[in-house]
Amino acid sequence: MEFEFDHILIRYGELALKGKNQKHFLNKLQQNIQHKLKGFPNIKIKRTRGRMFIMLHGQDPQPIIDKCKNIFGIHSLSLAIKVSNELEQIKQAGLFALENSIQAKTFKVAVRRVDKTFPTGSQEMNQLLGAYLLKHTSGFKVDVHQPDVEINVEIRVDATYITSDVIKGAGGLPVGTSGKSLLLLSGGIDSPVAGYLMMKRGVEIEAIHFHSPPFTSDRAKQKVIDLAEKLTAFGHRLKIHVVPFTTLQQKIFQEIPESYAMTVMRRMMFRISEAVCENHQILSLTTGESLGQVASQTMESMHTINEVTNYPILRPLVAMDKQDIIKISKQIDTYDISIRPYEDCCTIFVPKAPKTKPKREKVNQFEADFAFEPFIEEAVQKIQKIVVSDEQSEDKRFDDLF
Ligand code: ATP
Ligand code: MG
Repeated sequence: MEFEFDHILIRYGELALKGKNQKHFLNKLQQNIQHKLKGFPNIKIKRTRGRMFIMLHGQDPQPIIDKCKNIFGIHSLSLAIKVSNELEQIKQAGLFALENSIQAKTFKVAVRRVDKTFPTGSQEMNQLLGAYLLKHTSGFKVDVHQPDVEINVEIRVDATYITSDVIKGAGGLPVGTSGKSLLLLSGGIDSPVAGYLMMKRGVEIEAIHFHSPPFTSDRAKQKVIDLAEKLTAFGHRLKIHVVPFTTLQQKIFQEIPESYAMTVMRRMMFRISEAVCENHQILSLTTGESLGQVASQTMESMHTINEVTNYPILRPLVAMDKQDIIKISKQIDTYDISIRPYEDCCTIFVPKAPKTKPKREKVNQFEADFAFEPFIEEAVQKIQKIVVSDEQSEDKRFDDLF
């Protein structure tokens, strides 16, 4: 008998699934998988109770597994063989699964009999199949406590599914099941990681970037586009709102005492971001702020900057160490882009001594005489929109497709 792994079994976090949410969660997960696997027209996705399968129809499983590893909501994957509910078939397929498992020396058989009309019970099947596998292989041992591989046999009504190695998935929740957030994306290390972590919680992201030409170059903008493109590996499309920030930024540095310029600049960023949220039905902001990292990221500073918006500001890195953030940025392949040496709008106008404990009363006093609203309106109006997508090659990005 010839066997091949003809299915991929997808396991998702069942604990997260409750009531009505379940259907939404599963539909979204299936959509996201379908989208990522568009390049493989032969495959089909099938849902049964509590499970999702990808039917390979002859397609090499490895590139599919690689794609699935980035899909949030998938907790683990296994290659599976489907056979009819016949003992001889099950034995031989079990043997194939064991022989093709990766670097296993010890194994355990775990049979689940869902189809009660199958004549042999689960316990008896465990022993029978275990003995058969030992007899027909060499170099394998049984270890029921900590096996290298578990040969799982699920005897269902329609067929029997046999799986071996468990491949770890990305975890989290399917992107698109937790609403949308506007990510303040700089060219730095932190904000792409913040975006990634929110996507992992099922949040769909749009990005906003403050750009100050000619003080910040096109290469600085390109950096942000490249970072956003990396993030599409975990989602689908990402819209970037590029805000022309030069005029307002210069105005701030004219009107506001230098030690408070940074604080005011951040408040303007939030005001503009909030306007974008309102225009695009986005319900929160996300930043890469981490407590204590730099002058603008003290508790006092967050308190003062936060005042200008009552949108929730999600700060997934707030309690993380820089080293741990860097580790994630390397994992998601944004680190090398982030460390490209181009200036960003915060580094060019950095005051010599920014206030580390800016006060709300003070900043409100300074802003009182500064008619900034028209500048905000103008900046919002002149936003350039860029869409990056996981399907596009470098030269096929398109502007203003909203
Ligand atoms: P990052 O590594 O993300 O740049 P950082 O450690 O440099 O962060 P700050 O410069 O204080 O910290 O920026 C804090 C947060 O403000 C960033 O994580 C980002 O969310 C947002 N931000 C800063 N500059 C910009 C910008 N030019 N455009 C959009 N968002 C920005
Ligand atoms: Mg920065």
